[in-house]
Amino acid sequence: MLKNDHLEAWDRENFFHPSTHLAEFARGVTPQRIITGAKGCHIEDRDGNRLLDAFAGLYCVNVGYGRQEIAEAIAAQAKELAYYHSYVGHGTEASITLAKMILDRAPEHMSKVYFGLGGSDANETNVKLIWYYNNILGRPEKKKIISRWRGYHGSGLVTGSLTGLELFHKKFDLPLAQVVHTEAPYYFRRDNLEQTEAEFVAHCVAELEALIAREGADTIAAFIGEPVLGTGGIVPPPEGYWAAIQEVLERHDILLVADEVVTGFGRLGTMFGSEHYGMKPDLITIAKGLTSAYAPLSGSIVSKKMWAVLEQGTDENGPIGHGWTYSAHPIGAAAGVANLKLLDELKLMENAGETGAYLNAAMADALGDHAHVGEVRGEGMLCAVEFVKARDGRVYFEASEKIGPQIAGALLAEGVIARAMPQGDILGFAPPFCLTREEADEVVGKTAKAVKSVL
Ligand code: PLP
Repeated sequence: MLKNDHLEAWDRENFFHPSTHLAEFARGVTPQRIITGAKGCHIEDRDGNRLLDAFAGLYCVNVGYGRQEIAEAIAAQAKELAYYHSYVGHGTEASITLAKMILDRAPEHMSKVYFGLGGSDANETNVKLIWYYNNILGRPEKKKIISRWRGYHGSGLVTGSLTGLELFHKKFDLPLAQVVHTEAPYYFRRDNLEQTEAEFVAHCVAELEALIAREGADTIAAFIGEPVLGTGGIVPPPEGYWAAIQEVLERHDILLVADEVVTGFGRLGTMFGSEHYGMKPDLITIAKGLTSAYAPLSGSIVSKKMWAVLEQGTDENGPIGHGWTYSAHPIGAAAGVANLKLLDELKLMENAGETGAYLNAAMADALGDHAHVGEVRGEGMLCAVEFVKARDGRVYFEASEKIGPQIAGALLAEGVIARAMPQGDILGFAPPFCLTREEADEVVGKTAKAVKSVL
């Protein structure tokens, strides 16, 4: 198949690429890259390039590429039982085992996992469960969801609305009216540079309180947030942020959804980001690292508190009217079981914490003092470099200057893949957890070289 000389032409003629500038792709401005294989932290393309993937695909191939144990588990499952549904009490050994493995690793107060296919549909499920929950509790007006600017929660109708990035709203008539946005916990980009971290947290809390007062607490059902803002710029929260936000939510009886699609299963060096930041969510969204993207699978982990109401709801209303054909798909579940076993056996979560800290420290050493680097930040195996036009007085680059894409392009020419985050002036790193210190050094060295060549 790979000898097919028509692939490039077929690609342009037939393939609708997601998150792509369609016109530039058609004009050949956006390069085509056909990926042919991968192993460990490296991918290979059809032109024979071997690239160090410092973004793990879309921060999802957490255990690294080419894991035969997962491939074999998928093949065995496909041969034995490729599919059966999970409606009305049906299950498979793989899906039941995986649910148990997830709950064994989840915070103590969680109860059940509902399986979906990707992060977007899992968050869609979360919103429906929240609405159902409040209807059962007899408060049908308590429905709005608060999300943060710069949050990323998917690109469906409701999840694209939750996402707080303009690109995902523009010309799609989003956000929907049930979603309201509040301040991002983005200390580096604070308006008032005089503010301390603690003052900035107090400001975020005051913004949230003001929003709740404006909308009315009895109209607000839930607050959704990623423990560390991901696609919006890889931004760990300032000290004390989650504790302060949770206090407000509890006082107004607002549920908390921790969107752990990126942080779940070890990326911060702990099993969940909730654990890392002392969050006590009512729902946890999981996807990516659940199978390390060897097969599509996501989940909504539901707390005991919510579960009790959902159960009561079905006694009153009959079976819950929510299900996907592919919920708990056995092949995805088999991939998940093998993936979580590998994570444990190879101590990959521990490596994410240790080598991630090493990567962050080395990046800060190499670039922290550069005249056009405003901040190097990260947590665990997440790292970002934010560029500024001038450090004095904090002059930012315009998105149209495409500094992030230029540097990502220069870095790619050196053989390393990083992600130019959508804002345009941030370079993001989220390598597979099997990254070695030597590979981390290579990422840092080549990034420094790429930055020098552009700025
Ligand atoms: N939530 C978060 C935090 C994400 O980062 C993503 C994707 O990057 C999603 C949800 C959506 O997941 P998916 O692309 O699998 O629908």
